Amino acid sequence: MIIINTGPGKGKTTAAMGTGLRAVGAGLRVLMLQFIKGSWHYGELDAVEKFGQQFVMRQLGRGFVKVGAEKPDPEDVRMVEAAWDQAKEEISSGRWDMVILDEINYAISYHMLDAEAVAAYLRTKPEAVHVILTGRNAHPALVELADTVTEMREVKHAYQKGIQAQRGIEY
Ligand code: ATP
Ligand code: MG
Repeated sequence: MIIINTGPGKGKTTAAMGTGLRAVGAGLRVLMLQFIKGSWHYGELDAVEKFGQQFVMRQLGRGFVKVGAEKPDPEDVRMVEAAWDQAKEEISSGRWDMVILDEINYAISYHMLDAEAVAAYLRTKPEAVHVILTGRNAHPALVELADTVTEMREVKHAYQKGIQAQRGIEY
């Protein structure tokens, strides 16, 4: 399966992790690669340590991406390209039954990674490996390719009334 969690509402990453949790319970081995994250320490990093090699998470970014400039920062592009190389290697390795590519849609929408290259690889991936892609603004080529696509709709978010990120909810 290829699954996409996208849209502006909260729940894309956490739904992917919930699927990972379900998969671990079913005896599958799960890898989550976080394309952008790196600076914050998320609760899930400690939680999955208890699963050992059955559920592994790796932060491959530096926690933020400079936006607003005409072109993305070359350092961010380099990190995203390295993350994508690692993603392909891991998906093809036979070591995992499910690979979650967290915030990869974000990297694509900021032109740090080519959607067509991602789609081309996913078309040839080992069939038995489930891949979940998260992040806002999923590219149409990937939406087309995916089996299941969910768009989170924001009804409201605590942030709008000034509530800062909460430990255990946001990180
Ligand atoms: P989560 O990791 O909680 O599942 P997400 O993956 O859907 O959220 P992202 O777009 O990756 O959300 O954003 C990461 C952070 O931004 C999360 O901590 C989330 O609570 C917060 N966030 C998500 N949606 C909104 C929103 N509509 N307004 C403000 N903050 C948001
Ligand atoms: Mg997310």
